Amino acid sequence: MVKHTSLNFFSILITTIILSFIISNNNIIAVEIIKSSSSSSNTYFLGTNNNNNNHHTITPTKNKTSATSRGTHTHHSITKSQPSTSNLDEILRLAMVPGMVTWITDIRRTIHENPELAFEEYDTSALIRSELDLLEIPYMHPLAKTGIRASLGTGGPPFVALRADMDALPIQEAVEWEHKSKKDGKMHACGHDAHVAMLLGAAKILKSREHLLKGTVILLFQPAEEKGNGAKQMIEDGAIKDVEAIFAVHVSHQNPSGTICSRSGPLLAGCGFFRAVISADLGSPNGPQLRRADTVLAASAAVISLQGIVSREANPLDSQVVSVTLVDGGRQIGSVPGDVIIAGTFRAFSDMHNLLHRIQEVIKEQVKVFRCHATVDFFEKELTLYPPTINNDRMHEHVKKVAVDLLGPEKFRIVPPVMGAEDFSFYSKEIPAAFYYIGIRNEELGSIHCAHSPHFMVDEDVLPIGAATHASIAEEYLNEHG
Ligand SMILES: [Zn+2]
Ligand SMILES: [Zn+2]
Repeated sequence: MVKHTSLNFFSILITTIILSFIISNNNIIAVEIIKSSSSSSNTYFLGTNNNNNNHHTITPTKNKTSATSRGTHTHHSITKSQPSTSNLDEILRLAMVPGMVTWITDIRRTIHENPELAFEEYDTSALIRSELDLLEIPYMHPLAKTGIRASLGTGGPPFVALRADMDALPIQEAVEWEHKSKKDGKMHACGHDAHVAMLLGAAKILKSREHLLKGTVILLFQPAEEKGNGAKQMIEDGAIKDVEAIFAVHVSHQNPSGTICSRSGPLLAGCGFFRAVISADLGSPNGPQLRRADTVLAASAAVISLQGIVSREANPLDSQVVSVTLVDGGRQIGSVPGDVIIAGTFRAFSDMHNLLHRIQEVIKEQVKVFRCHATVDFFEKELTLYPPTINNDRMHEHVKKVAVDLLGPEKFRIVPPVMGAEDFSFYSKEIPAAFYYIGIRNEELGSIHCAHSPHFMVDEDVLPIGAATHASIAEEYLNEHG
C-alpha cells in the first residue's frame, strides 16, 4: 500500500475516527473460539468463554509478552469436542492446526529476512513456486517478471481470484528481533511478506479441499505493488483472464489483531506522483540590466499556489490531497541555483486526470511570473496513476458475510475510506472486487506502527486467521456461484 504522506483536514478527521475505533483490549488471538449452539448459523465468538460443549479450544502454548519474544509466534493446539459439518468450521480448524501455523509463520519469516524490492522478487517468487510444487498446485510463471498465477479446483468456471503482493520497501528495519531483515536498507515494512504467507496458507487449505470446490480458485502472487505497475502488468499478462471476482487482504496496524475490516464503495484513494524541474529563463529582452531570475522564489511560489488547488478548487465533499514532499535546489549559500526541483504526490477519490492537469498548469504558469519555466513529469510510465480502490457492493457483502460467519460479528468492522493508495485498484477497475484489512494491532506485542515505518511489525498470530479468511472467501464464492 502506498502510504499517504500528507493529509488535508478531512483525512485527518478520518484518521482520528479510525483511531477512535481502536479498542483497548487488543489481545485478539483469542484463547477460545466458541460456537454458539443457540444460533442456527455458523457464528463464532472469539475470546468469549461461554459454557458450551460444542466448541474448539485454541490454546496458546507460548506467551508473547517480552520484547525479546517479538519474533516468536504462538503455537495453538485445538481440541474439538464435537465434529462439525460446517465448511467454515473445518477451514478454520485446518488453519489452526499447529503444523499449519508453524508452516505459515516460517514462510513469512523467511520472506521477511530476505526482502526484495519491486520487480526484483526473484527469490520470493522461487520460494512460492517451490511451495506450490510441493502442494502439487499448477501455475503460470512469469507474469509481470516475477509474478505467478496458480490455480486449483475444477479448472472450469466460475473463476475467483485471491491476490497477494510480494515486494518490500527501501527502508532499514529498526525492529530488533530474531528474523530481522538480512538486507541492509530493505524491509518488508508494508506486510507483503505476511500477505504471501496467508495466501500460501489458503492454497494449502484449499488444496486439501479441492474435491469440494465448485469452480476454480486463481491465486495471484504479484510483484511491485509499491510501484503500481505490478498489478497493471499482471493484468496485461493475463492474470485475471476468465476471472469474474477478485479479493485481497492488507494488514492494518489501525485495527485490533484478527479483525476483518472493509467498506463498500471507495476504500482507498487514487494516487499519483509529480516532479517539476524549475529553471531560470535564458536571456532576457532587458539584457544585463535585469537581475537574474530567482528559481528559489519561483519554486516557493509554485509550492504555495499548489495548495490552492485542493483548498479553493476541489469540492469540499470530495477529499483530495496535493503535497509537495521534496524540494531540492542550491548547493552554495552565496548564489541562486540554476534549477530547483519540487516533487510530491496527489490523491483523490475522483478524477485523477483533472488534478494532474491542474498541478501541471499551476506549476508552469506560476513560475513564469518569476521569469522561469518548468518541466513536469508524472512518471506515468514508471509509477502509473493509481485509480481509487472501489469495493463492489456484492463483493464487499460477501467478505462481510464470510468474516462474520467464520470469526463472529464482533470481528468484522466497517472502516472509513483513507487517502492511502493500493494498486489492487487496477483489478477493481476491471472486475468486481473487494479489498479488506486484517487487523494486526497488538499493544502488548508492539505491533502498533504504521506501514512504511522502520518500526513496523506484524502480529504473526493473525496469519492463520488470514489464511482461513482467504480460503473461506474463495470456497464460499464458488459455492454460491458454481
Ligand atoms: Zn506499502
Ligand atoms: Zn502494502
